[in-house]
Amino acid sequence: MKEQYDVIVIGMGPGAIFLAYEMLQLDKTKKVLLIEQGKRVEQRSCPIEKTGKCMKCKPFCHITSGFSGAGAFSDGKLSLYNKEDDDFYVGGNLHKYIGVEETKKLIDYTDQIYLNFGADPKLEGTQYKKEVEQMKEKAKKEGLTLIDIPIRHLGTEKAHELYKKLEDYLEDNKIELKFETIVEDLIIEDGVAKGVKVKSAKTAQSPIEEIYGKNVIVAVGRKGANWLVSMCEKHHIQTEAGIVDIGVRYELPDKVMEKINRYMYEGKFIGRPGPFKDKVRTFCQNPSGFVSSEVYDNNLSLVNGHSYKDKKSTNTNLAILVSHHFNYPFKKPIEYGRNIAQNLNELGNGNIVVQRLGDIYRGKRTWEKELETNKVEPTLKSAVAGDITFALGYRTMTDILQFIRELDKVVEGFANPENLLYAPEIKFYSNQVVIDENFETNIKGLYSIGDGGGMTRGLMMASASGVQMARILNKKK
Ligand SMILES: Cc1cc2nc3c(=O)[nH]c(=O)nc-3n(C[C@H](O)[C@H](O)[C@H](O)COP(=O)(O)OP(=O)(O)OC[C@H]3O[C@@H](n4cnc5c(N)ncnc54)[C@H](O)[C@@H]3O)c2cc1C
Repeated sequence: MKEQYDVIVIGMGPGAIFLAYEMLQLDKTKKVLLIEQGKRVEQRSCPIEKTGKCMKCKPFCHITSGFSGAGAFSDGKLSLYNKEDDDFYVGGNLHKYIGVEETKKLIDYTDQIYLNFGADPKLEGTQYKKEVEQMKEKAKKEGLTLIDIPIRHLGTEKAHELYKKLEDYLEDNKIELKFETIVEDLIIEDGVAKGVKVKSAKTAQSPIEEIYGKNVIVAVGRKGANWLVSMCEKHHIQTEAGIVDIGVRYELPDKVMEKINRYMYEGKFIGRPGPFKDKVRTFCQNPSGFVSSEVYDNNLSLVNGHSYKDKKSTNTNLAILVSHHFNYPFKKPIEYGRNIAQNLNELGNGNIVVQRLGDIYRGKRTWEKELETNKVEPTLKSAVAGDITFALGYRTMTDILQFIRELDKVVEGFANPENLLYAPEIKFYSNQVVIDENFETNIKGLYSIGDGGGMTRGLMMASASGVQMARILNKKK
């Protein structure tokens, strides 16, 4: 059997891209192949701006698949860190594998690559230390933690340009990029990864091809979380029970969020509201942004949000997410989240459902005509007015409503009745893939990086995990 590649990477999200970039810095002679089911970055475009509604693109959603993965259309907020912090509070768990100080160095290095490829040198959230401290104190009194970290904001359209430059750089330097190709299966023999089985995404009946390599890196992101679960089951790849984050996208006037937007760009609040004490957090805040929708496996529509550098709305949107763990006897967080999403999609006739906060308090659905005169105008035009309480579940709903009440005491107007909740917003992670400090699974030569296996949860850490993976592979004999 002929080994064709030194490194095969499944996926072309930030994790995979930065792995390939770093391989080039370390050893240009290595044969590296990246395989992606979606398209080249310049061929990715979400039709919603023209059509006004999600077209459920086939075979893959442009928002979540293609070169730069979920990163291309992401708002491009790179979460950095505070020098004085001795832990990481956002972005994932990379530091659990390589240590906090090493992770900081790695983030500095990765940030510099983003800068070299055109990221804005301006950092958000660094000028207003005194004001942020005051807000932190206020939050603390309400039992909430406010995390402030510097943010580098690329903006959705700028992120696209930056990733195009990276795509060109990798190809110019002979990294092989195989697009519109689905990795169907892993080739594992006697507990050792040998390669992958792929087929073309262009036609339904394309033949399976086998590709061999010395190292196989799974970098499939949340889009591939479901596929990864099936691979873990089939090939006995060790996992630990994971979590699923379920919640809503919350939209409210910029005016209400004015101070946070100005001082921090993104305020990350974490609480444990009663009676359940589940972890509830705000995530992915988009000042003057737009709520968006994306499509996952089985045609599931999920809500998200982004903001542009130039095009602005008058609303801020952010996710409010509840982390759910399951241990016994039920251990399937992805299925739990998927069932909720399916029910909500049915309630919205295949679309995202939107409801006013005040209507939830009043125990009624929201009607289209009520939205027409609502002070907060929805930015996701395809969302259907309805009742998310039918499907979101008592526990999640209670957590969210209580969290909103608590945050209202810190940010006046956060619980205004005309604010909007869109659902489902769900962050799927595979069950946590068990990896060692070299990111290797219990299958020799099979590695996991980025969001898919549960190590990271954001652009910066996913990218940094790729850089680290390249360094690990380079040291391997
Ligand atoms: C709308 C949106 C906004 C976001 N905004 C931010 C933000 O502002 N800041 C931030 O830090 N994070 C943000 N994120 C999250 C961020 O994009 C991810 O954390 C990051 O992209 C994860 O990188 P990754 O390399 O692990 O995986 P991904 O970027 O998800 O890439 C994985 C790739 O693998 C491919 N793939 C999966 N399975 C297969 C298979 N079987 N065969 C072939 N290819 C496969 C997928 O098509 C995908 O392209 C956002 C995400 C979205 C969707």
